[in-house]
Amino acid sequence: MTEKTAKAILIATRNKGKAGEFAALFGALGYEVRTLLDYPELPDIVEDQDTFLGNALKKAREIAQRLGIPVLADDSGLEAEALGGEPGVYSARYAGEPTDDAANNAKLLRELAKRMEAAPLAEDGGPLVYGAARFISVLVLYDPQDGTWIHAEGTCPGYLLAEGRGTSGFGYDPLFYLPAYGKTLAEMTMDEKNRVSHRAAALAKLAELLKRD
Ligand code: IMP
Repeated sequence: MTEKTAKAILIATRNKGKAGEFAALFGALGYEVRTLLDYPELPDIVEDQDTFLGNALKKAREIAQRLGIPVLADDSGLEAEALGGEPGVYSARYAGEPTDDAANNAKLLRELAKRMEAAPLAEDGGPLVYGAARFISVLVLYDPQDGTWIHAEGTCPGYLLAEGRGTSGFGYDPLFYLPAYGKTLAEMTMDEKNRVSHRAAALAKLAELLKRD
């Protein structure tokens, strides 16, 4: 184990699902993993930047400078092709605050229906979709010792169903369809989703960068 990997790291999330995904990777790399659940007194960082990278960097830098340990922060969202990339960086509060997954999904379907008609994905009768979309995850790892940071981006391509399917996951999962699996993300087990998700892709890239150090 190198000195660099023997340090503590904070994963800047209170979401236990996300924390678990990230903790597995960093634990394996020899880090002592903490999350925001270990620091209940820390205020929420306002995600007011207009890019995923801007928000992830702001979160990682502000918390790292406060606590003096390296921080991993992520920002993620959904980009619908028919909406020119919306809801994008505003995915969490697309239908307003506080964040409401059902309201966000309903708004997404309303906006898509304004612009196009849903059509079968395949000529032989695939599900009705409103075109292609992708999830994006941007991760930033910020080191407060010297102010350096690295970042990695992962995507998950798919299609937006005209009607939701499945009850697992969160956010836009019921509308996000992966033809290779014949399922939405909300019809997958957590393990299946963790193999194909934008966060998993970004984490794999970050792990490569860390191994090179
Ligand atoms: P944040 O990165 O936690 O701020 O998440 C941004 C928003 O993007 C979430 O509130 C969800 O609406 C959406 N989102 C991000 N990742 C996923 C996912 O894996 N499934 C479904 N929705 C997601």
